[in-house]
Amino acid sequence: MGAARVKMLDGGAFTSPAGFWRKGEDMERHVRFPVPVYLIEVGEERILVDTGLNPSAAADAAGHYEGADSIGFFQLEQELPLVDQVDLDSLTGVILTHLHFDHAGGLALLPDSLPIYVQRREWEAGLDADAVARNFFLPRDYEGVEDWVVLVDGDHDLFGDGSIKLLFTPGHTPGHQSVRVGERLVIGADVTHFAAGLDDHRLPIFGDDLDVQLASAERLRALRDAGADVRPGHDPDVLVPGPVLVD
Ligand SMILES: [Zn+2]
Repeated sequence: MGAARVKMLDGGAFTSPAGFWRKGEDMERHVRFPVPVYLIEVGEERILVDTGLNPSAAADAAGHYEGADSIGFFQLEQELPLVDQVDLDSLTGVILTHLHFDHAGGLALLPDSLPIYVQRREWEAGLDADAVARNFFLPRDYEGVEDWVVLVDGDHDLFGDGSIKLLFTPGHTPGHQSVRVGERLVIGADVTHFAAGLDDHRLPIFGDDLDVQLASAERLRALRDAGADVRPGHDPDVLVPGPVLVD
C-alpha cells in the first residue's frame, strides 16, 4: 500500500432544527452543519468521497428540487465552490457514502464516465419509489449517471491493496457505506452525525432503520477504540476543511 493523503474540502453547509439530528435536542434551536467532502490521494488515484451540495440547490433549493417538500427543512449555503478546491478533471473516481442531497448533490459537477462507487442496496433504493420517499432521496441528484455507476456489495477492498476499503454500514440509509483509508482513518459519514454519537447513541430522529444504524455505529466505535480516527458526518466541532491524514 502506498502512502495516502486525505484532505477535507468544504462541501457547503445546511442549517436545520437541532432536534432532527440528535435525539433529545431542541426543535426550536437551529444549527449550522458543515458538509464535508474528502479527497483521497494514494498512488495514481485521486478519489473524492461524496460531492457536497449541488451549487444551484445551494442558491435556490426550492427551485432546484421543484416539488420536493423535504428540502424546505434545510437552509443551504455554499460559500466556496467545489471547483475552486479541487481539479475535478484530475479525479479518478468518486465514492458515494449514500444518496442524500448533501452527499450526491455535486455529482452533476463531475466529468462524465468518472467511476462512481456506490453500494448496490443504496442504488436500488434510489430507484425505488417507496424507498425514495422513505429516505428523502432527491432523484435529481443522481439522474443521468447510471452508465458509470460501479455497484459494490458489502465490504470491499477498492483497489485490492488495502489502501481504501469500503465498509458496509447501513441504517441511516439502506446501503450507506463508510470509507477506511489505511489503518488509521475511517470516514464514517452519516453513521453518526456527531462524534459523540458513537458513545451516546443519540442518532437523528429519522433513518431507514435505526437499529441497524446503531449496529453500524457499534462497528465504527470498535474501530475507533482500536485506534482509528473515525470522522462523523456533520459535527460542527470536528469537521474543519484541511488536511486529515498525511501518511
Ligand atoms: Zn449527510
